Amino acid sequence: MSTGKINVQTENIFPIIKKFLYSDHEIFLRELVSNAVDATQKLKTLTAIGEAKGDLGDIKVEVIINKEVKTLTIRDKGIGMTAEEIEKYITQIAFSGAEEFVNKYKDKTPETNAIIGHFGLGFYSGFMVAKKIEIFSLSHKEGSKAVRWECDGSPEYTLVDSDKTTRGTDIVLHIAEDSEEFLEQERIDHLLQKYCKFLPVEIKFGTKKEGEKDKEVEVDNVINNPSPAWTKKPADLNDEDYKAFYRELYPMNFEDPLFHIHLNVDYPFNLTGILYFPRIKKSFEIQKDKIQLYSNQVFVTDSVENIVPDFLSLLQGVIDSPDIPLNVSRSYLQSDSNVKKIAAHITKKVADKLEEIFKKDRADFESKWEDIKVFVQYGMLSEEKFYEKAQKFALLKNTEGVYSTLEEYAEKVKVAQTDKDNRVIYLYTTNIEEQHSFIETAKERGYDVIVFDSPIDSHYINQLEQKLGNTSFVRVDADVIDKIIKKEESQPSKLTEEEQNTLKPIVEETVPKEKFTVVFESLSEKDAPMLITKPEFMRRMKDMSAMGGGMAFYGSMPEMHNLVVNSNHPLISKILNEKDLDKKKQLTKQTADLAMLSQGLLKGEELTKFIKRSVDLID
Ligand code: ADP
Repeated sequence: MSTGKINVQTENIFPIIKKFLYSDHEIFLRELVSNAVDATQKLKTLTAIGEAKGDLGDIKVEVIINKEVKTLTIRDKGIGMTAEEIEKYITQIAFSGAEEFVNKYKDKTPETNAIIGHFGLGFYSGFMVAKKIEIFSLSHKEGSKAVRWECDGSPEYTLVDSDKTTRGTDIVLHIAEDSEEFLEQERIDHLLQKYCKFLPVEIKFGTKKEGEKDKEVEVDNVINNPSPAWTKKPADLNDEDYKAFYRELYPMNFEDPLFHIHLNVDYPFNLTGILYFPRIKKSFEIQKDKIQLYSNQVFVTDSVENIVPDFLSLLQGVIDSPDIPLNVSRSYLQSDSNVKKIAAHITKKVADKLEEIFKKDRADFESKWEDIKVFVQYGMLSEEKFYEKAQKFALLKNTEGVYSTLEEYAEKVKVAQTDKDNRVIYLYTTNIEEQHSFIETAKERGYDVIVFDSPIDSHYINQLEQKLGNTSFVRVDADVIDKIIKKEESQPSKLTEEEQNTLKPIVEETVPKEKFTVVFESLSEKDAPMLITKPEFMRRMKDMSAMGGGMAFYGSMPEMHNLVVNSNHPLISKILNEKDLDKKKQLTKQTADLAMLSQGLLKGEELTKFIKRSVDLID
C-alpha cells in the first residue's frame, strides 16, 4: 500500500470548482465516458499496430448505477493503467490540469457561461458530484498488477493492490448527498442521450439489480450509435440514410428535411458533418432543433452562434471538429482564425450545394424555393461572399408564378420597363389581392410584376437596388403606372389650373387631410377617374422601421397616401361642370370611395354610407 499527497498548489480547489461549474455538474459524465472511450480507442490502435497482444474481446463501455451503495460506475475494457500510470496521469496530470483550469476561471462568474463545453476538466470533474472516487484498473501490459486508487477530494490519496481480473478501468463515483439525482436511471439515461449518443464505442447503461454481485453486473441498454452517418463516406450513403440520420438526430421532428450537405474537410482544419435544410416557415419560428457541435463524436453544445454564420443557424444537423477550441470564451472564438475559416468554408459549401441543385434540376429547385427563399435572402444580405454565389440561383417570382434568376429577369423586362431616363424599373407587389387593380393596369401596359411578400423582402429590395445598378424597385401602387415608368412627357391636362383649383377643395373634403394628399394627374381616359397611391420612399421607410433598427422615426409617422385625380377622365369633367353643389359633392365622394374601395381602405361607417349612397344613385 502507498499513500501520497497530490502535488497541487491550491490546498483546496474542490470547493472552487464545485461552485464555478454549479450549473454544469452534469458535464462530469461526458468527461468520464469520453475518457473510457479514449482508453478503448487507444487499445484498438495498439492492437492494430501489434503493440498490444491480447484479445480485444467485447470492448464496450458500461455505465452502472448501484442505488444500494450509492455509486455510479463507468467501466471500460480499454488500455487500463498501472500503479505508475495512475500516479502520473491521475495524480499529477489530471490534477494539475484541473488546477490550471481553476486558476484560469476562478475569477469569472458562472453566469457568463464563458466557456464552451468545459472541456479540459477531465477526470477531476467527477468530484463535482462524488465525495469519494475509486479507480480499479488493470493495464493491458503483460504481467501488470491490478490496482485500486482512492481519493476523497482532499489532496491525499491511497493506492493499493486490487483483485480486479479483467483488463480496463472502473471509475467508481461515490455520489455525494447533494448530487443524488445522478443515481436516478432517468437522469443518467437523459445525459447519456445528450452527450454520448454518437460516441465511437458502444455504450451500455443500466441499474444494478438487487442481490446481483458487483462483478456480474451486465447492463444491456445500448445508448449510442457508434458510427453515425457523418463519419461515413458520402458515397456509402443514399438519400434514405440521410433522412434516417435526421430522424435519429431529431426524434421529435416529423418533417423530412429538404436536402442535405455532407461536409468533409481535412485541410487546413478537420471538420466533418451533415447539414440539413429544414422547411422554413415564413415567420421565423423559434427553432428548437438546432445544429449540434461535436468534437470527435462527443457532443459539445447546440449553441453554435460564434462558429457558424448567423444566417446558417437556420440550418440543422451536425458539425464535428476537433479543431474548434472549446475551452475558451465565446468572444475569443469569434477571433479565432480556424473558426473564421470554418465559417467561410461552410458558407461556401452551402452556396455550392444550392447552385448544384439549381443546375441539376431547376424544376426541383423552384419547387423548394418558397421554403429556402428566406434563408438565401438572409444569406445574401449578411455575407458578401454568399451574395456573389447566390446571385446565380436566387429567384424572383412574378404574379403569374413564373420564376427567373436575376439575370434572366433583367433580360425579360429590359425593353419594356426602361423609362425615358434610361432607368430600368422593377415593379413589385406585396399583396396580389389588395393591389390587384394596380397589377392589372401594369400588365395592360405589358409590364411584369414581382411578388415580394415576406418581411425580409424590404431589406432585400434595398440590397438589389444597390447591387444591380441603374435599377429601381417600385411597388405597383406607389404612383400611377405611367409616372412610375415614365415613357414620355405627360400628356396635356384637360383641366386648366383654375379648374383644378376649384375642384381640389371639394375632393379634399372627402378624405382625412392628415393622411391624404390630393394631386391632379393627366392620365389616360381609360384609367380610373381617381386612385390612391402610396409613395414608395415613405412606405419603404415605414416597412423597415417595423422591422426594427434605427428607423423608428418613420414608424411614428402616419401612413401617407396620394389621392390622384385623373384630370383627363370624362367623369372628372362631369363633376366639374355639375351646377348643383350637393350633387357635385356626392359624385366626388362616390368616386373617391371607389378608389378607396379598390385599395381595401373603405371600412366601417364609410363603407356603410358608400353602399347606401350607391343604392340612391342607382335609383
Ligand atoms: P485528458 O483526458 O484531457 O487527458 P483527464 O484528466 O481526463 O485528462 O485524464 C488524464 C489522463 O488519465 C488521461 O490522459 C489518461 O492517460 C488517463 N486516464 C483517464 N481515464 C482513463 C481510463 N478510463 N483508462 C485509462 N486511462 C485513463
